[in-house]
Amino acid sequence: MLDLLIRGARTRGVEAPRDIGVRAGRIVQVQPGEGAARTLDAAGRLVTPALVEPHIHLDAVLTVGQPRYNLTGSLFEGIAIWGERVKSLTVEDVKQRVRQVLRWQLANGVLFVRSHVDVCDPELTALRALVEIRQEVAGQMALQLVAFPQQGILSFPDGEALMRRAVELGADVVGAIPHFELSREYGERSVKFAMTLAAERGLRVDIHCDETDDEQSRFLEVMIAETIRLGMQGRVTASHTTAMHSYNNAYAYRLVNNLRRAELHLVTNPLDNSVLQGRFDSYPIRRGHTRVKQLLAAGVNVCIGHDSVMDPWYPLGYGDPLQAASVLAHYGQMTGYEEIKTLIDMISVNAARALGLEEYGLEPGCRADLVLFDAPSEMDAVRLVAPRLAVIRGGEIVARTEPARHMVVWDGREEPVDFLRHAQG
Ligand SMILES: [Zn+2]
Repeated sequence: MLDLLIRGARTRGVEAPRDIGVRAGRIVQVQPGEGAARTLDAAGRLVTPALVEPHIHLDAVLTVGQPRYNLTGSLFEGIAIWGERVKSLTVEDVKQRVRQVLRWQLANGVLFVRSHVDVCDPELTALRALVEIRQEVAGQMALQLVAFPQQGILSFPDGEALMRRAVELGADVVGAIPHFELSREYGERSVKFAMTLAAERGLRVDIHCDETDDEQSRFLEVMIAETIRLGMQGRVTASHTTAMHSYNNAYAYRLVNNLRRAELHLVTNPLDNSVLQGRFDSYPIRRGHTRVKQLLAAGVNVCIGHDSVMDPWYPLGYGDPLQAASVLAHYGQMTGYEEIKTLIDMISVNAARALGLEEYGLEPGCRADLVLFDAPSEMDAVRLVAPRLAVIRGGEIVARTEPARHMVVWDGREEPVDFLRHAQG
């Protein structure tokens, strides 16, 4: 007897719909004729493992317009506005905003979230709030917190001590922002400091690296060298890496090969970086994201992050990784047939690998953390940014969506439309 049986699920790489069984919170092989306490009819719709958000700044969410709106939309005006807003930050203020966006993410099928948290604050207010939230929501979502020094480690008063305190307070991952440090030397030292701290404490690393259009920004090679030196292969993530877009091809070729050698994970953030990069260009304006297709082709693990939800840098968004994937389909020219399927991997299995999640997937024995999309294929899911009909955690439905019904009057008669291609039109 199963606890849950999902009938007729379409899964990655399998054309024919299949049944997925759940017992004691785990995926199990369905035996012929086996009964279930509860049945969910997927009716040929797409089922994937739970979505994974590998890069968001939860401490800044929902602050757009506070104390004022970003009129230019630029990164630098955003930093200035955040500098004003951060003065009124309290633990309760952070917690209220985060609780709201976590609900949005859950409704979108996200059960695992890695959030960067600004630790350039002697009080570590945001981190204290997020550590409490991590505990509060542990029964429904898993949060990883990155000690993120928004204003640098070497370039901010007592930056190194703050990073150590953040780790003691409970940060899971060590961050850095080398391209924002005052000098090249500080940038290198900040990477070495962060990675050594992580290695000493057995933590993972996730560094905002080369998030600039400056082709001279080359800290990723320092991350690669340190990863190999410290034996941290597979535990290190580089986020953004937009400068790679502007590197010469010879340098990029060497870099991409070394990224694979060091087993770094990369996070691209199409929503924020499509609007923040290229701001100093006259026409033509560069896209300013990392070399996603080249990295994937070389066998580097690349995943998609959301980065911001309604904050001074990005006023839009509702915490949906699928929307970010849809933007990358256009902005990264990933509309090839297999590439669209890869986009779904980049918000699920690839991101899970970057976070080091275990027992994740659709194989028997994995945790039954699943999403049912209101779409028959990966292509339709991306095309429609399809609603998540059901989000399942450990075999329990923890979120569901009732899709909108669309009606048109055609030939004087009202009839439904669903935006799917049918045999007859
Ligand atoms: Zn970021």
